[in-house]
Amino acid sequence: MNVETPVYLDYAATTPVEPAVAEAMAATLLPGGSFGNPSSNHPLGREALTIVETARQQLAALIGARPRDLIWTSGATESDNMAITGGARYRQHRGKHLITMPVEHKAVTDTFAALEREGFEVTWLSPSNDGMLDLQQLADAIREDTQLVSIMFVNNETGVIQDIEAIGKRCRDSDILFHVDAAQAVGKVPIDLSELPVDLMSLTAHKFYGPKGVGALYIADRPGCQIEPILFGGGHERRMRPGTSAVHQLRGIGLAAEIAASRIEEDFVHIRSLRERLWAGIRDLPALSINGPADGGFPGILNVSAEGVDGESLMLALDPVCVASGSACNAKSGEASYVLRALGLDDHLAQSAIRFSIGRHSIAADIDIAIECYRHAVTMLREMAPVARKCV
Ligand SMILES: *Cc1c(COP(=O)(O)O)cnc(C)c1O
Repeated sequence: MNVETPVYLDYAATTPVEPAVAEAMAATLLPGGSFGNPSSNHPLGREALTIVETARQQLAALIGARPRDLIWTSGATESDNMAITGGARYRQHRGKHLITMPVEHKAVTDTFAALEREGFEVTWLSPSNDGMLDLQQLADAIREDTQLVSIMFVNNETGVIQDIEAIGKRCRDSDILFHVDAAQAVGKVPIDLSELPVDLMSLTAHKFYGPKGVGALYIADRPGCQIEPILFGGGHERRMRPGTSAVHQLRGIGLAAEIAASRIEEDFVHIRSLRERLWAGIRDLPALSINGPADGGFPGILNVSAEGVDGESLMLALDPVCVASGSACNAKSGEASYVLRALGLDDHLAQSAIRFSIGRHSIAADIDIAIECYRHAVTMLREMAPVARKCV
């Protein structure tokens, strides 16, 4: 294959910033621009404060929240840490039992692991083979002392969409805090927090065409739904998250949210058709399997395993197509994707997995290059003698 420029099919890892967003951000950084500290009581400070609060309204509108229920953070990792640690600690006098799944993002699983070391007890609910949480299993796991449940909206490796409404209702019935990591969902699937029984929700701008390093935590305004802060240092963000507001970042997340809201349906239809094109172009290869839902999940993600193919060699052979792999060496973690393993895949099949993720700027020609590269790579690697490979 002679392809000059890389083909980007890794939108679940991050997205480029919309040009209009980058321009608006720059205008808040430069001399002569709105670079003031929003805490300052002078014209430039007030101008900056207006930007911060406008962004809060723009993001709130995208997810059906009230602006005052949003706390600015540095991204979903921080929001996950705040929500889970802060929620567990706030409720610990009532009980120390928590529930989550092993297929969550590391920002969630590592936070629960840290809480286990602090003396909390965590139940890890395994998904069924299609990645879904079994509601009966959740009901069985809930105890008198259960205080917080954390389940993600859209899985970042497989695109599985959980039934957030049903899980939330179950939690409300037992007065349990319900946290949702929605980093892969916000701006891509419709979310209306005025209807959804969600207490805490994490999100990050760079998954919906905003800048890296900025996100938010939604905290529902209802009795008993509170968290203890995990950072200290001032009165910002309702004393929940101190530090000078990153005005340029907030300008970015606000505008990115407004743009996402205006085209969420259009983007969805676009990526769904490209995912269909991609799968149609490779599905006749022997011994391929989709990890996660064949349909019904988030269409921006197609995760495919190829029996008898080594994942690392596949990644190399796929160059210049930018995708993610379920293989150990790539993730430098020492094991195959823990998410795919939790779906019941053996190490080998998990390592052969490739996650294609499609986005707003993907075009049919990208998909066609990916199809050709993938077909060529799988066929070639299967023809070569299988070699036992070890990660170094
Ligand atoms: C990307 C992502 C995160 C982390 O977001 P950051 O902005 O890197 O902190 C957390 N959870 C999920 C599901 C993600 O996809």
